[in-house]
Amino acid sequence: MDHALQKRLIEAIATTVIAHVEELTSLDQAIGDGDHGLNMMRGFKDVMADVDGLASKPLPDALRAIGTKLVMTVGGASGPLYGTLFLTLAKELPDSPTRADAARALEIAVAAVMARGKSRPGQKTMLDVLAPAQAELAAGGDDLLARLKSRAAAAAAATVPMRAIRGRASFLGDRSIGHMDPGARSSSLMIAAVCDVLGG
Ligand code: ADP
Ligand code: MG
Repeated sequence: MDHALQKRLIEAIATTVIAHVEELTSLDQAIGDGDHGLNMMRGFKDVMADVDGLASKPLPDALRAIGTKLVMTVGGASGPLYGTLFLTLAKELPDSPTRADAARALEIAVAAVMARGKSRPGQKTMLDVLAPAQAELAAGGDDLLARLKSRAAAAAAATVPMRAIRGRASFLGDRSIGHMDPGARSSSLMIAAVCDVLGG
């Protein structure tokens, strides 16, 4: 992949997550322990600290380095899970992926997150955004980036009425109903950032 584009993608993901630290914090205050914003900000500040180094690597190497940083710096439940997502994409994506390559790699990466989290879509987690986003990407077709972005946003919103069955929010039982899942929101933010860059 073109290094300038790779840099714009990394910067867009990182700056979007960092810009939403307060929103992610308040979502996690409602149904968790309030650390998701700071966890994610710590990870993506570490990514931004080496953005030029990451941009100059072949795409799989950059994804592997990002995944390793996230595992080491984010913490909580989401650090190992997002780490698994990026590390699996690193293993599965070629240097210059097509849409079909990306859909296939994301399918395997979502399955890896499910295995790591002993979770599946429907349990009010990041998977409730990642899985439908993967399905949209696999479908292809017209206006894919715009559709992908709005599918991810709608999927995050659809976690509001769900009852959490995995993660810290599950301790709340029915009281987890009525709030958006923080990890679903951070996933939709990252997907929107990628779509905005690729859509020009
Ligand atoms: P912690 O819950 O340890 O404080 P974070 O607040 O950083 O970690 O992340 C919470 C998010 O992680 C949740 O909103 C949810 O999306 C995601 N999550 C937690 N447990 C799981 C799991 N088992 N599978 C998938 N996602 C999970
Ligand atoms: Mg938390």
